[in-house]
Amino acid sequence: MSSAKRIDGKEASARLKVGVAAAVAELKQKHGIVPGLATVLVGEDPASQVYVSSKQKTATAAGMNSFQHDLPANTSEADLLALVAELNADPAVNGILVQLPVPKQIDPFKVITAISPGKDVDGLHPESVGRLVAGGGALVSCTPLGCLMLLKDTLGDLTGKRALIMGRSNLVGKPMAHLLLNENCTVTMAHSRTVDLPGVCREADIVVAAVGQAEMVRGDWIKPGATVLDVGIIRVPAPDGKTKLVGDVNFAEAEKVAGAITPVPGGVGPMTIACLMLNTLKACCAQHGITDVELPLTLPPKT
Ligand code: NDP
Repeated sequence: MSSAKRIDGKEASARLKVGVAAAVAELKQKHGIVPGLATVLVGEDPASQVYVSSKQKTATAAGMNSFQHDLPANTSEADLLALVAELNADPAVNGILVQLPVPKQIDPFKVITAISPGKDVDGLHPESVGRLVAGGGALVSCTPLGCLMLLKDTLGDLTGKRALIMGRSNLVGKPMAHLLLNENCTVTMAHSRTVDLPGVCREADIVVAAVGQAEMVRGDWIKPGATVLDVGIIRVPAPDGKTKLVGDVNFAEAEKVAGAITPVPGGVGPMTIACLMLNTLKACCAQHGITDVELPLTLPPKT
């Protein structure tokens, strides 16, 4: 028996991409400007190649320019920083994404901090993080931004909800907590040292699981009717001898208790790329001081 509403991230991301494409068209028509996204991939990691190529294709489909830079695995930190400086100075590039992880001779923090904050479409620059915390129009990390959009689309006003974020990474957990705090949720952050995580979880109206531990969150951890977003993506052996993707939540158990839940795959994942497009569009408008183009800052309604 299943009771939870399934939150369809593919459908939601399609709505957001339509909204972004419409705004890109409006920007071009009113101002003759086309947003540009530069992606940088160092090395030949197959998973990273798939991610980057999908980001490029999505940008092109939204009517943006995309600039792909493939560098060999032995690229020096200095050479990568020189490319970032070039992209910072290029007016055709509004957003810069250096695909992480980078090879070990390169310090990722140096690369992240070298990106101009105005072009930091991954939202990882300390200035972007500071603006998220202190206020002031930051570009926000794409996965938590996508989670927030899904939550607002599902629940409407989030004021007063008890939200539990599992995981405290710079990429997901920490920005998610601040986004929900900004929405007037009462936020708890859990991590590997949290005592009695199941008990803490049972108090939450909203659970965002981002730990990278296959099916760790069990059905009896979930408060009946809670909204559960599963950020985790873990490849595990499948019964047929192949592999399959699962999340941090035991979906079969949790969907019997939750009010709404995202599947893996097809939940949070598709929203991440759509939010990268939104961030590139936002960055472009901000760089040009454009305020008369309607940006899809919440998910457009279903038609
Ligand atoms: P990190 O490895 O950077 O962080 C994991 C966090 O989970 C840490 O804070 C860690 O705690 C916590 N954690 C680990 N084990 C446990 C445990 N047993 N109990 C409680 N907390 C635990 O991961 P990311 O945030 O980068 O990613 C998390 C997951 O989300 C991964 O599966 C990743 O693949 C996926 N992901 C999916 C995206 C998407 O688009 N759908 C985008 C980004 C990530 P501590 O700090 O104490 O070590």
